[in-house]
Amino acid sequence: STGRLFNFAAGPATLPESVILEAQAELFNYQGSGMSIMEMSHRSKEFDYVIKKAESDLRSLLSISDDYSVLFLQGGATTQFAAAPLNLCASPDTTVDYIVTGSWGDKAFKEAQKYCKPNLIWSGKAEKYTKIPCFDSLQQSPDARYLHICANETIHGVEFKDYPTPANKDSVLVADMSSNFCSKPVDVSRFGLIYAGAQKNVGPSGVTVVIVRKDLIGNAQPITPVMLDYKTHADTLSLYNTPPCFAIYICSLVFADLLKQGGLVESVRSLMNVPFTLRRPELEKTFIAEASKEGMVQLKGHRSVGGMRASIYNAMPLAGVEKLVAFMKDFQARNP
Ligand code: PMP
Repeated sequence: STGRLFNFAAGPATLPESVILEAQAELFNYQGSGMSIMEMSHRSKEFDYVIKKAESDLRSLLSISDDYSVLFLQGGATTQFAAAPLNLCASPDTTVDYIVTGSWGDKAFKEAQKYCKPNLIWSGKAEKYTKIPCFDSLQQSPDARYLHICANETIHGVEFKDYPTPANKDSVLVADMSSNFCSKPVDVSRFGLIYAGAQKNVGPSGVTVVIVRKDLIGNAQPITPVMLDYKTHADTLSLYNTPPCFAIYICSLVFADLLKQGGLVESVRSLMNVPFTLRRPELEKTFIAEASKEGMVQLKGHRSVGGMRASIYNAMPLAGVEKLVAFMKDFQARNP
């Protein structure tokens, strides 16, 4: 055994083993450069390739258009709680809307109070953060500059499956995607700003990914620290100062790994009817007969397509599905 555990941590979190091994192999002498990526100038040609590859692979994964800048920043998602209002609200009097479905959204809302006038238009607190609002009944502010959501609340385990649309045309949707970033396809064009700490789905802690529509950049409040102004980083391809090179490098390996696996494409496989075939179709009759002997019946596929089909409607107990899975693995091992 490799001694590695199944690490269920919320972040920093488990990374693909292939990525860790690749990083390990390249750690001592990165691609013949004579040094590790940790020791290398962020202005070297090697690192220039790494950060550009990270950006272009992320653009492919999420189909991010040229209308958006992709930034690799520091300070965690928590810093974005301040950066979002500072960059998007031209003045401290600007109105914005927050939907709060858990603790992180609440933190974002409270931080925004320092830099603009946020309205809490919906909170799930009274129901212990177990709900997502019905979008039609939201009372959005007519003059809101943006509508902020936390796409997935890491502590309460509450995820938006669809997204609300800002009510007025000058408003944009802003989302903290820290804990579901790159877990599924997202229509980036519905958002003005997406931010995510890397340390859950895409890398180690130390880097925060910001995806921001270009026309929203360049209007930060005058008090905005240079490091929090998206323009600073958009103008310099995230190389205004020393970036978290190693963290960006690991993200680039994760993005490449995700692309290699086929990207984030949405599966259309039904959760109700699961048709499947055997690599050796001549074994189908045996499969069905053996399953039947073990008390699993009606697995023959529809006559128009052949193969097998397991229908798993509401009343099918989990034990039934688990038994079928175990039987399939055993059948596969016995019939290589
Ligand atoms: N938002 C969400 C949804 C989170 O899960 C976390 C971290 N657990 C944060 C923000 C804060 O992120 P960071 O530690 O990168 O500042």
